[in-house]
Amino acid sequence: MAYPNVFLLINGEWRAAAHGETLDVINPANGKIIGNVAKAARDDIERSLKAAQAGFKSWSATSAYDRAKKMRRAADLVRARADDIARLLTLEEGKPYAEARNEVVNCAELIDWFADEARRTYGRLIPARQAGVMSATVKEPVGPAIGFTPWNFPVAQVTRKLAPALAAGCSIVIKAPEETPASPAALIQCFVDADIAPGVIGLLYGEPSEISSYAIPHPTIRKVSFTGSVPVGKHLAALASAHMKRITMELGGHGPVIVCEDADLESAASALAMAKFRNAGQVCVAPTRFIVHEAVYAEFTDLFTKKAQALKIGDGLDAGTTMGPLINERRRASVERLIADAVEKGASLKCGGERIAGDGFFFQPTVLADVTTEMVAMNEEPFGPIALFMSYSKLDDAIAEANRLPFGLAAYVWTRDAKKASALGRGIESGMVTINHLGIALPETPYGGIRESGYGSEGGPEAVEAYLNTKFVSHLSE
Ligand code: NAD
Repeated sequence: MAYPNVFLLINGEWRAAAHGETLDVINPANGKIIGNVAKAARDDIERSLKAAQAGFKSWSATSAYDRAKKMRRAADLVRARADDIARLLTLEEGKPYAEARNEVVNCAELIDWFADEARRTYGRLIPARQAGVMSATVKEPVGPAIGFTPWNFPVAQVTRKLAPALAAGCSIVIKAPEETPASPAALIQCFVDADIAPGVIGLLYGEPSEISSYAIPHPTIRKVSFTGSVPVGKHLAALASAHMKRITMELGGHGPVIVCEDADLESAASALAMAKFRNAGQVCVAPTRFIVHEAVYAEFTDLFTKKAQALKIGDGLDAGTTMGPLINERRRASVERLIADAVEKGASLKCGGERIAGDGFFFQPTVLADVTTEMVAMNEEPFGPIALFMSYSKLDDAIAEANRLPFGLAAYVWTRDAKKASALGRGIESGMVTINHLGIALPETPYGGIRESGYGSEGGPEAVEAYLNTKFVSHLSE
């Protein structure tokens, strides 16, 4: 399947941008231009919001039962087309094909789950104070929404906005990533082919700030959901607040990992190395700060380093590749800067640390030991293949380190001691804590951060709630 040029979806039609502008799409595995994507003009944004208004009228009037049926049809198409969508994803994003395919298949599962959840958006009856009064809450869709999604999970991040919005009865305009446009377009084609009416889903690409500054204040839009960096999230949250729009913010993190002296070190190293280097570390919930008990620090660091050294770096479409390139040169330079700073301040480089020569934006999986909190990497989200190791002696110090940064997205704990597990589960300030396994990001579980990592959830029933208003109706019938 050749890489296609990608268009905007406005009112059910795939079209070029009003002024014909496009942006190049680059394969990060070789740095070559593989196609282009339409760059929306102001007219396109306005048209797509108008279509979303009409789409909302029809979709919110469609029964939850019928909405669910159409969503399930879309999920079946996603599964049937998983190979092709995954190939596009790898070509434009770089992750190994197996990871890409997993992402796509998981999206089908997310859509199915949210389709069923559409049928469970119950209100409640409230005991009235007067005979003849029926007091009830009714769940109503909040209105047309806009979702801004990033390049690191081009299909999954769209699905985490689209599926709950549709389940709730909202129309939604997706501003998908310009770096990786074809796989989200192929995902959305499945919804078009499942016969979801024009205007219910719109798809835009363009200059992100131009689209957000126009669409968020626009009276049509009633809900904003953003996934991306903390600074951009703060900016968009302020803009949405100024116009009193509902928001969900899924931002960055700096995943702390606490490995206790009684942990199953082999299981921890295998699971955490996989989680760390998945998508070359460009994952908001990636484990990053490894806080390891001093009694097992050397052994665990060595075990983990061996796992990092065993990775096979290459083009995601080549068989056997377990880690692909970074998305662009900007990310590679950023990772390099963090490593140079850490080494200069005394970190010891256990493996990696360098870019890989040749075409594409490849970087070695990197393990830095004996890090300190003065190092920039210990404070800024690396968003790349860097694991940072430090030791602790008292559990309270480990918890204090986990909570030191203003983020609170995902945290990881390894211990066989139930008391410690309980203390850590309660003590770590984070939206998600997973103990002795990698247990986050299932359709039915909440997915989101606290503190500067944002607010709201993109998993579980909470994700649908984010697209619903609770209306109170009290009726005296006698
Ligand atoms: P960036 O800050 O330039 O952009 C982050 C995302 O926000 C991109 O998708 C971009 O298109 C979008 N964006 C930027 N300005 C915007 C605006 N004014 N309006 C609407 N959208 C806007 O960072 P980047 O170099 O693309 O990505 C690296 C950083 O982004 C990382 O450090 C990481 O913290 C964050 N990130 C987080 C996630 C996540 O899953 N939470 C995903 C991707 C990127």
